[in-house]
Amino acid sequence: MIRVNENYQKLKASYLFADIAKRVAAWQTANPAHKLIRMGIGDVTEPLPPACVAAFHAGVDEMAARETFKGYGPEQGYAFLRELIAQHDFKARGAHVEADEIFVSDSSKCDVGNIQELFANDIRVAIPDPVYPVYVDSNVMAGRTGASTDNRYDGLVYLESTRANGYVPALPTQPVDLIYLCFPNNPTGATATHEQLKAWVDYARANKALIVFDAAYVAFLRDPKLPQSIYEIPGARECAIEFRSFSKNAGFTGTRCAFIVVPKELKVWDNAGGEHSVHALWNRRHTTKFNGVSYPVQKAAAAVYTPEGQAQVKALTDFYLENARLVRTAFETRGLHCVGGVNAPYIWVNVGRDSWEFFDLLLNQAGVVCTPGAGFGRCGQGYVRFSAFNSRANVEEALARVVKLL
Ligand SMILES: *Cc1c(COP(=O)(O)O)cnc(C)c1O
Repeated sequence: MIRVNENYQKLKASYLFADIAKRVAAWQTANPAHKLIRMGIGDVTEPLPPACVAAFHAGVDEMAARETFKGYGPEQGYAFLRELIAQHDFKARGAHVEADEIFVSDSSKCDVGNIQELFANDIRVAIPDPVYPVYVDSNVMAGRTGASTDNRYDGLVYLESTRANGYVPALPTQPVDLIYLCFPNNPTGATATHEQLKAWVDYARANKALIVFDAAYVAFLRDPKLPQSIYEIPGARECAIEFRSFSKNAGFTGTRCAFIVVPKELKVWDNAGGEHSVHALWNRRHTTKFNGVSYPVQKAAAAVYTPEGQAQVKALTDFYLENARLVRTAFETRGLHCVGGVNAPYIWVNVGRDSWEFFDLLLNQAGVVCTPGAGFGRCGQGYVRFSAFNSRANVEEALARVVKLL
């Protein structure tokens, strides 16, 4: 008899997006003539940068000719892309990362979900609240938690991001081994300073813990004082893995390319206290379970690092950041506390009432969809998330409708 992985029975159904879809569908049926505006979506709306499109086409043409055709490439990614990443994203900022420490993949979601399988099942896992759900669910699937009650799993340590701590969690009071951090943050849009990241790096080194640092939104950072990589913090090479993606900077959500950085210094320990290289373990996993990103896609990603590509990515993220500024200003000038929307494409708005109640108000009275903060964790109650990924016309119309209700 083929038996189910019981850990999957512990997952709470993703009520959040199913619930949103149900309420939106009901509204549309009741208001067929009214235009709905979605301001909750975490997906880009603008087309690929022209430099990426040209390189993508050129890559396809190479695949069409016998002389330049390519079969399987290196599982870790082509050297041309790994070298550009190491140079532009890290060395140019004074962060030490070598090309052979970069593993190209088709998705940060997959990388973030897969990384936990290198670690023992009885490690203590620290999860931010509110959170990008992949961090939690991948550990539930692996059996590192008990049941869920009241929006929290037994066995996880929750790192609360609240107004009181500026949405950057304090160090845990109980010991933890694996720590998930995401800055600029999804869903709050909050950023972490050099000093705040240093506190986490120092904690991790002192406790032989490991930080999973999700930097998917780094292209939205405009404040030059904010660190762009955790490797700008001394000692991070001994305790952190960084996750990056081309999804949110160059709009690759439908094209698929990402990478992780695994420094050679990074260690894990076995029961007898013996040291093991995380780089070697991840290389083993990656080459066993993954066969590389498509060549034309890697060519398109490499074009991000050309002067034209850099300018086009800057223009694209500037466009979304202006949307974000409009959203944040609209709520702030009406007295609502907001975080994010500067250095991040998300605006986390304290609506001073139940998240779902505010969601329903916006949907029913304005035909505007946001994401109820409570769906991202207990600390999200009383908040909603707005996304800046939209056309300017949609943002302006949505805000014009919404401010009438405030
Ligand atoms: C969008 C996003 C990613 C990127 O995921 P991809 O699979 O590369 O598209 C990673 N982390 C967070 C928090 C995100 O919001």
